[in-house]
Amino acid sequence: GIRLEATNKIVLDLEKLYDTTGEDLAYVARYARAIQQQRGDYNGRVLSIRADDLRALAIVYDISPSGLIERLTEQGVLVADPRAFFAS
Ligand code: C2E
Ligand code: C2E
Ligand code: C2E
Repeated sequence: GIRLEATNKIVLDLEKLYDTTGEDLAYVARYARAIQQQRGDYNGRVLSIRADDLRALAIVYDISPSGLIERLTEQGVLVADPRAFFAS
């Protein structure tokens, strides 16, 4: 249902992602920049990405999609609830 879809949505915190140092998330950051460019979505603090694109990125990192979700969560670049994010 709608509720499940909403909680499964992959939303990136762009400030955190682009500020993250080191090679670890470099490909995710590059991909996010490319998506912003394709959509013309430059002013957002967050970016919702396709589940398909997460799967493609997971292949690049040679891990499972859930493994990549875990890594993004550890690095604090995933927004669990975008509406709560803007309320805080
Ligand atoms: P497209 O895939 O042919 O999508 C055309 C338009 O349909 C998009 O224009 C967007 O307005 C809408 N659209 C398609 N899928 C979704 C969706 O899941 N959610 C929402 N909210 N809208 C959707 P837009 O955003 O200007 O993107 C233009 C083109 O840029 C897209 O054409 C696609 O080729 C590429 N693109 C944009 N964002 C992504 C992305 O996250 N991943 C990939 N792989 N390509 C993207
Ligand atoms: P939501 O998906 O939970 O997103 C909440 C807020 O996070 C959005 O408020 C927006 O400020 C931000 N946000 C999420 N994803 C992106 C992104 O990829 N780029 C940017 N720049 N900001 C993002 P907003 O715009 O007021 O939208 C409120 C709600 O309206 C959204 O909740 C969503 O449920 C719906 N919505 C807005 N635009 C679209 C759309 O293009 N397609 C669909 N399907 N729903 C949309
Ligand atoms: P959303 O807009 O709420 O869309 C939720 C799901 O509905 C998408 O999950 C996709 O499975 C389906 N969907 C929505 N619009 C379209 C469409 O035009 N064509 C197709 N084939 N499917 C569609 P998905 O792909 O995992 O995307 C998650 C979120 O990423 C979307 O949530 C939207 O916020 C963002 N997104 C994905 N692709 C685009 C895009 O091309 N342009 C923009 N502006 N946002 C996109």
